[in-house]
Amino acid sequence: MGFRAIGGRAFKAVACVGLAVALLAAGEADAKSRKKKPAPIPVYATSVAWGSVTGPSLGAPRSIGGYAAGCIAGARALPPEGVGYQVIRLSRQRNYGHPVLVDMLRDFGQRVALAGLGTALIGDMGQARGGPMPSGHASHQIGLDADVWLRLDLPPMGRAGRERLDEVKYVDYDRMRITGDWSDRQAKLIQIAASDARVARIFVNPAIKLAMCQRSWADRGFLNKLRPWHGHDGHMHIRLNCPAGSPQCEQQDAQPEGDGCGDELMSWLDSAAPATEHPPGYKPEPRVVRKMPAACAPVLNAAGTRMASLADSAVVPAKEAR
Ligand SMILES: [Zn+2]
Repeated sequence: MGFRAIGGRAFKAVACVGLAVALLAAGEADAKSRKKKPAPIPVYATSVAWGSVTGPSLGAPRSIGGYAAGCIAGARALPPEGVGYQVIRLSRQRNYGHPVLVDMLRDFGQRVALAGLGTALIGDMGQARGGPMPSGHASHQIGLDADVWLRLDLPPMGRAGRERLDEVKYVDYDRMRITGDWSDRQAKLIQIAASDARVARIFVNPAIKLAMCQRSWADRGFLNKLRPWHGHDGHMHIRLNCPAGSPQCEQQDAQPEGDGCGDELMSWLDSAAPATEHPPGYKPEPRVVRKMPAACAPVLNAAGTRMASLADSAVVPAKEAR
């Protein structure tokens, strides 16, 4: 109907303009798709590659890159149990880290035992060569992060029994305050970790930081290292400083001065959210790290040692696991 109303010449003109617009649009779309086309993802930037390594790479330990985009050469396994601690969920094979982290956690266990706090539960550290994990944490990639649960009510247990444990959450999100389960023992556990000079910062829920701020301490210096973050209501996330001998390790900015118990904490209390819980059997998409340092490619491909055995009956001495 509309065509008939338009004269021959006018129709041609309209058609031409239409064609020109169409060509222009196509050209633009082409340019856009060319621009948008992402560069191919190198194998060493995917969680699939790092999640399937057979063991740590050989050689001197080196943390490479940033906490959320990097890897570790020459990692060590934290022995599954020791004085004052036991590693949980060993089947995940995430009890690897820089030797400085392994030493720090063993010393931490000793101090926990000495303080009579019970047995600390060590959760995820990192994968045998670090890198992105197929599930969970965005960081924990350079062997300098570890999650430690806050519950202290469990005795030393067999490895199988440590696979399926429930985290005790200490935050009531309606009030944004700690729950009645919280005690001095949790506070002391966090203080012991934060007082270690190797520790750069510890992520805890804002309600937990508030409880730590409100308690009286002989020395409040360690409070500076407690950083409020979402989730972290049943565990603390310990992060170490870049160790000596790791020139490619990217240290984070220094903490602001002070105990961090003021305005920043108050704003966190208004905005903190619980971590997302996934149903059992949830299969996340593989993770890609866009800024993975190129120096991680040879780490992924290097010769290495095998993973430690997980069975209770075949306790692998620390030396062999290394
Ligand atoms: Zn963590």
